[in-house]
Amino acid sequence: MEEVETAEELLAKQQRKEKKDLQAKIQTMKNAVPKNDKKRRKQLTEDIAKLETELDQKHENELKHLQNSSSVEEVSNALESVSLPNNEEKTDPSKPSRTSKAQKKRDKKAALEKEREVRIAEAEVENLTGSRHQEGLKLRQKLMEKHLQIKEISSDGHCMYRAVEDQLTERSTTLSLKELRAQTAQYMRSHADDFLPFLTDPNSGDMYTADEFEKYCNDVADTAAWGGQLEGALGWKNLKILDVAGNFLSVFPVGFQFLTLDELFFEGNSLVQFTLMESIQEKEVLTLKELSARLILQESTNSFSVVSRALPMYPDLQDVLSHWGQCDLCSQPFLTTWLECVQFINTKKHMGMKSSQSVPVRVLLCSYDCFNRDDHQYYGLA
Ligand SMILES: [Zn+2]
Repeated sequence: MEEVETAEELLAKQQRKEKKDLQAKIQTMKNAVPKNDKKRRKQLTEDIAKLETELDQKHENELKHLQNSSSVEEVSNALESVSLPNNEEKTDPSKPSRTSKAQKKRDKKAALEKEREVRIAEAEVENLTGSRHQEGLKLRQKLMEKHLQIKEISSDGHCMYRAVEDQLTERSTTLSLKELRAQTAQYMRSHADDFLPFLTDPNSGDMYTADEFEKYCNDVADTAAWGGQLEGALGWKNLKILDVAGNFLSVFPVGFQFLTLDELFFEGNSLVQFTLMESIQEKEVLTLKELSARLILQESTNSFSVVSRALPMYPDLQDVLSHWGQCDLCSQPFLTTWLECVQFINTKKHMGMKSSQSVPVRVLLCSYDCFNRDDHQYYGLA
């Protein structure tokens, strides 16, 4: 059997490498900032201190984790070696070799597991020094100035409601996801006139009928249909004057620039402020549901494909898929996972209005792959 390094040795080796890599990275960072640029130098010192603290913390955690897991392993090994007295009497020659086989198996498994942990640790370090992490640091800095912080919310179609749920918990009000959805649907039903103008059939551009609206509300209440899909500016074809002054609108809906407005009022709105920042995003991992939804949506556009012939037999599936969206760059479909961006539209240049104002209009992209392309002027929303 080949010699296997102990887990401690492997970890120590890995951590030494990580430290070395980080020092190299820090050197590159230092070289990139001119010595006389005091402001950036100061930021750099802070960033470096943060990276070093994070790595130390990570190493400490890894060590703790390893010590815990090895004590578990010791106990389980000890248990394995315990045998009952009457078994011992029946010891046969094949037995020792069987135990050692099992031990070999365990060793191999442990080595594989260790290897996996090392790979994860490596990836973590890469992320730590990668552009994504740098961006995160900058974003955190900006948020800190406003006494805000980032909270991760899973993108499972419930994210808007989960975000509200989270904030309610902070205020010691507890409303479950289900209750939130039910209340939202109830509010929409009782204020149908406020919502109907924003709900249009994506194909015909017609306003929703009462039945369609009821179905929409039911989806809000009972399914993972995502929140914030009051899209469909394309349906407001006859709109000439839009007055949204003083409300909480921060971004105009997808396709807003295609309206033929004469006048637009939005004084007093907290429209997206022009604090733009370089951003490169790492590839995301899509859920199996999202991947299969995209595949089915793609296939369904080909009327000869098996998928589009089979779909009518699955009305529930069709229902779920009816909330699909399309990437503004590559035109590929997506279902519940997308990237929210804005583009800045000039009301005079792009919309033919008399007054010239720059307004943020929502754009949806299918992936970070598309976002990272350099042939667009879209900005991620943070
Ligand atoms: Zn795309």
